[in-house]
Amino acid sequence: MNVLMISAELAPFAKTGGLADAVTGLSDALAARGHDVRVLLPKYEHLPPTDLDAKPLATTAGGLVLELGAPRGRRARGGGERKAGTPTVYLLDLEELTPGPIYYGDDRDAGRFIRLAAAAVDLPATLDWRPDVLHCHDWHSALVPLTQRTRARADPVPTVLTLHNIGYQGLFGDAVLTLYGADAIRAFVAPDALAGGTINFLRAGLRAADAVTTVSPTYAHEIRTPAFGMGLEDVLNARPDDVVGILNGVDYDVWGPQKDPFLDFHYDATNVTPKSSLKAALAERVGLPPDPTSPLLGVVSRLTSQKGIDLIAAALPEILATTRGRFVCLGSGDAILATGLRALADANPQRVAFVEGYDEGLAHSIFAGADIALVPSRYEPCGLTQMYALRYGTIPVVRATGGLADTIQHFDPATGVGNGSVFRDADIGGLLWGIRSALAWFDDPPAWARLIANAMAADFSWRKQAEPYEALYRSLAP
Ligand code: ADP
Repeated sequence: MNVLMISAELAPFAKTGGLADAVTGLSDALAARGHDVRVLLPKYEHLPPTDLDAKPLATTAGGLVLELGAPRGRRARGGGERKAGTPTVYLLDLEELTPGPIYYGDDRDAGRFIRLAAAAVDLPATLDWRPDVLHCHDWHSALVPLTQRTRARADPVPTVLTLHNIGYQGLFGDAVLTLYGADAIRAFVAPDALAGGTINFLRAGLRAADAVTTVSPTYAHEIRTPAFGMGLEDVLNARPDDVVGILNGVDYDVWGPQKDPFLDFHYDATNVTPKSSLKAALAERVGLPPDPTSPLLGVVSRLTSQKGIDLIAAALPEILATTRGRFVCLGSGDAILATGLRALADANPQRVAFVEGYDEGLAHSIFAGADIALVPSRYEPCGLTQMYALRYGTIPVVRATGGLADTIQHFDPATGVGNGSVFRDADIGGLLWGIRSALAWFDDPPAWARLIANAMAADFSWRKQAEPYEALYRSLAP
């Protein structure tokens, strides 16, 4: 099949979170299964990467489209030539909207993604290439189905819209449609998505896409309720049978202790001894004194209330006072959350390290070197970090929500079943209970060894998770 992915992010080229990993993982897996997969994303200021070329390919309504000179992902895996079985990457040159970060946080984002939709709809014809599906990801490409309608095609391409996080909807004053040349879509946008002088990109896309998916079965249920639907539950309940939850996968070549290019030592489930060397190296790297026997708790996260970072900061004093636990956090985002974590690190330099910023290599080192990974999210569409942690034998402590509930089972030392610690309530007491459970198992070496074995045995490979997408695409064929 021919698949055009339209996304704001694509690992490793443009990444702020799990969206980038998910689109790359799915695209790679589908391409490896023999499909012709092409991915269109904006050419941000930092693209193309210095070691790759991008050559002009076609002029579209959205602007000039460039083709990236080598398959993405190769770089992280040590170089290589383009070959069959890897996705093609297209970059839309946004001219005056190119400078700056991946998200501006203002109306220019509307401009970027209005133009991305126009390019997505135009590009196939200019390439004489017919996609079987236009696969849109999050609000950024939610206008693709509408934009396609403005082109009055006799044979529209089926559209899929995948919700990676319904908390981000693309809400703008509707003047952006005029400003960025998209007035023609007004006639096709559902009235509830174009109301009160605003346009809600995601609402518009949910009304218009042929199929809607999200990234875990539990989140697919949750978002039909007011507590999780972020005001869009009515649209989802209006199409109850076709909001499908398909769990994200993991690329274990990138995220696994056997081959991880960011690690100095490698290991697998048959011998996890090198993990202790990685733990020591991690402690040294983030400025904690050597202490091989204390449990090291790690966090790699965007700093937002969604991720329960405030709960971590609030629970930490108690953990420090009553356990031997030490803590390393890598994160960027909300300045107030960062200040709180910084204060904890300053007050407890022997036991708490906080690295503010975005650092792909350090993220890998934390998943490998920590004993425990904290993911106390208030909501979590899928969550990748708990799945990454599992593979490195790092035990997740998670809240029972969304994809966290679908991937982590609370360990029972009596039966030896389970792969992590799962708590119910998004409050300090809940998180403390989850952490204390994990620390108790840590102090029981046979139980801990079993838990690590269970964690590393979990298989969320994209190879498996791509199949339901393939089936969905086929079901949409005219
Ligand atoms: P979300 O997409 O909501 O941020 P996910 O768990 O799906 O959450 O994906 C998070 C991804 O972003 C993971 O690959 C994680 O390693 C990465 N990540 C988050 N924050 C950072 C950071 N500060 N530095 C490096 N990687 C990060």
